[in-house]
Amino acid sequence: MSHAEVAPNPQDPALPVLERARRLVDDLRFGEVSRWKERNPGKLAIGYMPIYVPRPLLEGIGCLPVAVFGGGDQVDIIKGDSFYQSYICHIPRSTLELALNGSLDSLDGMLFPSICDVIRNLSGMWQMLFPEKYASYVDLPQNFDPELGGRFYVLDLQRILRDLEARGAAKYDPERLRAAIRAENSRRAALAELDLLRVKEPFRVRASEAYLVARTGGVLETAEHERFVREFVAAARERAPRVYDNVRVLVRGSFCEQPPLGLIKTLESAGCDIVDDDFQLGLRYIEGDIECGPSDDPLVALSNAFLRRGQATASRYIGDEEKGAALVKSVREVEADGVIFAAASFCDPALLDQPMLETALDRAKIPHTSLKFAENTGQFQVIREQAGAFSDAVKLWGSAA
Ligand code: SF4
Repeated sequence: MSHAEVAPNPQDPALPVLERARRLVDDLRFGEVSRWKERNPGKLAIGYMPIYVPRPLLEGIGCLPVAVFGGGDQVDIIKGDSFYQSYICHIPRSTLELALNGSLDSLDGMLFPSICDVIRNLSGMWQMLFPEKYASYVDLPQNFDPELGGRFYVLDLQRILRDLEARGAAKYDPERLRAAIRAENSRRAALAELDLLRVKEPFRVRASEAYLVARTGGVLETAEHERFVREFVAAARERAPRVYDNVRVLVRGSFCEQPPLGLIKTLESAGCDIVDDDFQLGLRYIEGDIECGPSDDPLVALSNAFLRRGQATASRYIGDEEKGAALVKSVREVEADGVIFAAASFCDPALLDQPMLETALDRAKIPHTSLKFAENTGQFQVIREQAGAFSDAVKLWGSAA
């Protein structure tokens, strides 16, 4: 039996959590952020674009970090297109559209991590279009020596702290930052539990559900998100076991612009259990804990976590390490049958990386296929057929050939 898209089961113990997750994720006017500001008068909400921004840094000075993933498939682009040429990805246009139509008014500032030229240019546009709001580029180091890249990164984090303090954030207190790091580690342990359940019993947790549950972390405080994830995991464990004749796949390439939820569900209904992915990579970018003892400098701890535990991704320099080795290792670890590359159209980092990753998979004899999407893609029939053919081929012959 293969998954087919079905109406929600009213008896599903996880349904209430999933319904709340869907409401939070679909609310592109960020009502949850406005409610947080009402509960926390005078505090700042700071948005950030995908990939990696150290959220504890912001929570450590009393700010709410808010992940901004563009407009998805719910926003008509009216003004956003006029700022960009046609041959780039979709997320910067829809993010600008959200800002121009007032959806991001609850945010007091935006951080733009260094992932690609598009995001760099967007940070400049933001400064020109919204001079009253804080906007800063976060230049993540590509040198991983603590004395070089590490010092640079700590100096950049200190600059952001100074900037935000000047705009009304709480004064930097190392003890408070250490507490925020502990909370982040605890939340990430909950996310790791969710991931493990998906790997071991994918029939209990679909990727599309894990996606929604993880994404609520973009607007919730860390401790609340941890409770939310744990509530979902507990409910998912109560679900009756079912066995599907699906193939186990990893999805790679969607670390910035996000695929529409319908696309993820389409892959599932085409017979794929997505047991690992790089959706919303920023929430999981650091592998393992951010190590920070009671007397450690928490800024150095954040820096060391980035230098030593950052995931291999298209926006990260990997020096002499073999390109694709981390992907092959991940395939082995989650016992996947194959890989689906799903990159946003015109996403240079993902699409330039992909041939090297495909070569590594070929060497390791791991089947793979690839597709492209835009966050507002609405037609999935072709993708359903492609993914269905891939899963059938892998099931029958153990390869995509
Ligand atoms: S989708 Fe790709 S090209 Fe577009 S902003 Fe994100 S990383 Fe850059």
